[in-house]
Amino acid sequence: MYSCVSHPQVQLALENALEVGPRLVGMDLQIVQQLARVLMDSHGLEQWDLVFDRARRRAGMTRYNDQIISLSRPLMQLYDEKQVRDVVLHEIAHARVGTGHGHDEMWKKEARRLGTPPRASITEGPRAPAPYVGRCPNGHDVERYRLPRGVRSCATCSKIFDHRYLLTWYRVNAVDGTKIQPSSLNARGR
Ligand SMILES: [Zn+2]
Ligand SMILES: [Zn+2]
Repeated sequence: MYSCVSHPQVQLALENALEVGPRLVGMDLQIVQQLARVLMDSHGLEQWDLVFDRARRRAGMTRYNDQIISLSRPLMQLYDEKQVRDVVLHEIAHARVGTGHGHDEMWKKEARRLGTPPRASITEGPRAPAPYVGRCPNGHDVERYRLPRGVRSCATCSKIFDHRYLLTWYRVNAVDGTKIQPSSLNARGR
């Protein structure tokens, strides 16, 4: 059911391990899926598939070529029902007006017709934390959206590499923000 993005095995295993973590707010993915499916079917997208992805900086995506609407798994779990509905309708509007329209007048008209505000992005609402945090011995945090490579030291403490200020990397749970320190993350060499 989930979209197949290529990830290193280690990261995949970590992701899966984090799936069992506690959830503070937001929607159950099964409910999200049912809601999205009903909306898609009732607006003429019976032939389209629905998948979830790992994006943390955008809530939804329309893939015209393979007729797929892709929703961010971490963000859907943070959103309430209204926000989920708006994201799904936003993408349905994209799917219906077709490729090449972006957020133009035609798309806006369709979004309004479907009953969702014709905004390019959802500005309010919870945001998912960056998936990696490096913490320096002096307490500075560095957020990273990609798995950091190699050994890094804190740029705040020293402009050049300094082993006294080595960053220790943590994987951040997208939903509740808890940090774990997998040894695999810090044992990584170049
Ligand atoms: Zn859009
Ligand atoms: Zn520092």
